[in-house]
Amino acid sequence: MALPEPYAADHPFMPKDTFKDQTILVTGGGTGLGKGMAQMFARMGGKIAIASRSAEHRANGVKAIEALGGQAHGVAMDVRDSASIAAAFDEFEEVLGPVGVLVNNAAGRFMAPAEDTSDNGWRAVTQIVLDGTFFCSRELHKRCVATGRPGAILNIGATYAWTGGPGSAHSAAAKAGVVNLTQTLAVEWAVDGVRINTLAPGWFPMTDKPDHMRGSWSELDLRRKQMPGGREGHIQELGWAATFLCSPFASYITGHTMVCDGANWLRHRASWAPPFTPVREWAREGVGKKATRSA
Ligand code: NAP
Repeated sequence: MALPEPYAADHPFMPKDTFKDQTILVTGGGTGLGKGMAQMFARMGGKIAIASRSAEHRANGVKAIEALGGQAHGVAMDVRDSASIAAAFDEFEEVLGPVGVLVNNAAGRFMAPAEDTSDNGWRAVTQIVLDGTFFCSRELHKRCVATGRPGAILNIGATYAWTGGPGSAHSAAAKAGVVNLTQTLAVEWAVDGVRINTLAPGWFPMTDKPDHMRGSWSELDLRRKQMPGGREGHIQELGWAATFLCSPFASYITGHTMVCDGANWLRHRASWAPPFTPVREWAREGVGKKATRSA
């Protein structure tokens, strides 16, 4: 018996006008989980602002929202650069109206033993994940305070923020920083009507993901058997959690990190685990080997 399959993505959830007349900015909203969450906001009336570096990714995201009958606009933004963030907010506000919800979804990651990680590789990941989350959040907060409007921020985390992430030291450390930042900013900004939470996804295989993230998902059957819930997550399950946390129905929830992973991260390594393999023996071979690792 596995966890029951979810309702279809278009099943009624919160009122259809929950995000009516609101602009929802999703960084990295043109691909993967960001695109999936953006679609759920659009189903509930939100106008979607898609910010990322690649024009192709942004166009892909805009197309997905328009296919649902929604409104979307894409603007170039590098979350590591606060001037680029401010300029993108300006354009979004001109085209779509004031941004009320920010989803800090953009991320970068590659697998490598910690000792093989270059200065540039370390900085690229930590700056996108941690600096980018802070810079974008600070921009939204500034605009909310200036106009007296409330705001909601959702950071996309990962459960290796708590467990560590062998083979992903850069990303795990940055995600841990994001969880901590969520708690600090929740206290600092509650007085301004700005809430901030983090959502940590589990395994959500998507068909349009870049190869470096998709590689380990070829052995679907094996991965399913490894899951306490017997299955992967479906994107609407992440979308429901994301939209709820940013909605007025979560008006008293701030500073929280919610995990959406079918309890996978709570499964402790059992005595039947295979012999320990040092990270450097599998991470250098690429992510395709991940399913058999024991670290
Ligand atoms: P993805 O498809 O690789 O998406 C990452 C997005 O971030 C891309 O759209 C990319 O767009 C954007 N991005 C990267 N660097 C950027 C920068 N400097 N400035 C602006 N945008 C940038 O990743 P994903 O797997 O969907 O992951 C989405 C989020 O979920 C991430 O925060 C990730 O850590 C988290 N997560 C994912 C999983 C999973 O199973 N996939 C599990 C746990 C957590 P451009 O290339 O156009 O810039």
